[in-house]
Order: sequence, then structure tokens, then C-alpha cells
Amino acid sequence: MLNIVLFGPPGAGKGTQSQKLIEKYGLIHLSTGDMLRKEISEGTELGMKAKSIMDQGILVPDEVVIGIINSRIDSESGANGFIFDGFPRTIPQAEALDDLLQTKGTEITTMLALEVDQQELVKRLLLRGEASGRSDDANEEVISQRIAEYEDKTAPLAKYYNDQGKYNGVKGMGTVDEIFSNLCKEIDGLTEVN
Ligand code: ADP
Repeated sequence: MLNIVLFGPPGAGKGTQSQKLIEKYGLIHLSTGDMLRKEISEGTELGMKAKSIMDQGILVPDEVVIGIINSRIDSESGANGFIFDGFPRTIPQAEALDDLLQTKGTEITTMLALEVDQQELVKRLLLRGEASGRSDDANEEVISQRIAEYEDKTAPLAKYYNDQGKYNGVKGMGTVDEIFSNLCKEIDGLTEVN
């Protein structure tokens, strides 16, 4: 299996690149942000709890996202592999994911980390807020809070995967196609070795 953690701060382009990667490599896209927004739009109890947390720009509890990822992985047993987008976001989530994949006889192949300047991130998120109406993208204060959460809780995952020899930084500035090509080079390099 090819199991990729697509990593990077809010606005790094993970969702956009995931769409292109799943097509090229036949993978399944698992975005916890999308899954939570689906719960919100369906008005489930979980969705209602998550919405107020997400609108503050902070992370929903680990056990909630681990639970939804777990059930999705179970329902996709025939997959070639997965792209994890926006998950894991904390060390306990990464540990839970390692354990989960181990029980399925597989593991994370690589973390691909999109590297983007801070100024560019805020610009992209505000633009996305205007276009999509996503409430957590419309407000600069919420965006700053999300970036602070990222620095505090999520950035340490780079070391976690680097310690496993799985961290690969990828230039995340340029056109969508240029960034996609940077990602493909990394993936193709890995699969040639294996
Ligand atoms: P972005 O990548 O732009 O930050 P996402 O769509 O991935 O946006 O996530 C939006 C919000 O959903 C986050 O700010 C957080 O509140 C919640 N969320 C998504 N994934 C997770 C996760 N793995 N752990 C905790 N909270 C999450």
C-alpha cells in the first residue's frame, strides 16, 4: 500500500493536491476536515459539537477524529492506499494511526510536507473564505488561531515522522501543477526504491 500523510499548515494546499494525487495513484482521500464538515451539514450531534470548536480555530478532541478515521479505514478494506489530509494533527493522533495501520498489516509510507510562506498562507485562506463561505476562513482572527494551533500541536509531527525516516519536505509555492509535480517526484522516487 501507498499511505501518504500530506502535511502542512492551514492553507498549504493539501485538499487541492489530494484531489490530483488520488486520481494519479488510485488512492483514497481521508480528510478529517471534510468529514467533520459533512457531519455539520448533516446536523449530527457530533457535527454540532464540532462546529463550535472549529469556528474558534481550535482542534476537536483526539478521540473524536481518531474514531471517524478508524471507521473510514475499516470501510475501505480493498484500497491501494490512503492520503491522510489534515490528520494526524497531534502526536496522540499519529500514535493512534500507527497502531491502527499496524493492525491492518500496513504502515505510513511517507509524510510529504508542503512548505509555504506564512504571508502566502493568510492570503490563500482569506481568498478561500470569500469563495467558499467556510466560516473558519472568513475571519483573520480565527485564521491566526488555527496557525497558532498548528505551530503548537501539529508542527511537532514533522519530528515524529523524521525520527521514523519518513519526513519529506516539498516546495508548496508556485502553480498548482508545479507543486503537484514536486509531490509526484517524491512519490515516484520512493516507489522506485521499494
Ligand atoms: P485547514 O487544513 O485549512 O486547517 P481543515 O479542513 O483540515 O482545514 O480543518 C478545519 C478544522 O477542523 C480545524 O481547524 C479543526 O478544528 C478541525 N479538524 C480537522 N481535522 C482535525 C484533526 N485531525 N484533529 C483535530 N481537529 C481537526
